[in-house]
Amino acid sequence: MTRTDFLALAGRLCLTAHMSKLSGYAGPSARSNPNPYLWHQYTGTRFVITAQTLLDLEYLIAYADPASSWARTPAAALYNGLHAPDADFNLLLQRLRYPISRASNPETLKSGLRTCLTDLADEIAGDLLSLFDTYTTEILPAHAELFSSAFATVDKDLRPREAELFDAVIETLHLRMPFPVEMFFVGHGTVFGAFTSQPSLSVIDVSRNAGLNLIETILHESVHGVERLNANNQSAYALLRRELSSRGLQRDTEAAWHALIFWNSASIIKQKIDPAYVDYGETFGVYDRAFKTQVVALRVVWNQYLQGDLSLSKAISLYVDKLT
Ligand SMILES: [Zn+2]
Repeated sequence: MTRTDFLALAGRLCLTAHMSKLSGYAGPSARSNPNPYLWHQYTGTRFVITAQTLLDLEYLIAYADPASSWARTPAAALYNGLHAPDADFNLLLQRLRYPISRASNPETLKSGLRTCLTDLADEIAGDLLSLFDTYTTEILPAHAELFSSAFATVDKDLRPREAELFDAVIETLHLRMPFPVEMFFVGHGTVFGAFTSQPSLSVIDVSRNAGLNLIETILHESVHGVERLNANNQSAYALLRRELSSRGLQRDTEAAWHALIFWNSASIIKQKIDPAYVDYGETFGVYDRAFKTQVVALRVVWNQYLQGDLSLSKAISLYVDKLT
């Protein structure tokens, strides 16, 4: 069994655990919505944004404090395995290897694995269930407030100009981006303010993103979601990759590209919503901490490009000039 096979299996396993053990839960939104896990959803023309009680819970487990007992539960191990591959992943793998190593033929392998997975699913469901009580009484009410103000921002600042903002992202970066783009909000303070795992699961922590910073992050994560899709075409991402690799600088790609996403997303907010907007990268010190050189270059080159004074390929090559 490969790692990918196992992860696919683990995902299904968890889903099974959720469905069988947690389906009794009737949260605040269950009365009005047939999906008991759905907290709130925004369905626009370009973006679908969901806050789901279960994802919020899972995210909490995934980033459980390593010192807490939660960090050592099978559920935490599974999610750490999924989201931070070096964590307790081996522990779980070990438990699946046992029936594999004992199996004398395909039938005993099948039944051994089935027993092992059922036990594991029960344990995971048990973990989730015991956290669920604390979660619904203590954590969720606080998250609910964060969610309502996040969705109010989405309604006020994203809804009226959604297509315009989305199109600006696509046009400035020459991206191929199928819509609607799907995103999830979580309410837990996390290591990152947001992340997108390939292929395209975008999670935004609304305790760390508010007001126009939240809208910038939505644009930012939508770009991460289509990186693979745009790795080899005429997009800004592909051009940048090629330019850096032709100069033997492949390892600078991630920082150069990431700085560009930050800068471009913030520029769109300034251009389309508020000229006095202060970039997320500036507010949270990301520019200073991680992208000093890149930002000096982008301030000149990318602004010229956005004003229409440079072609995309010229802008990319000048950007790379200034990085070296
Ligand atoms: Zn990013």
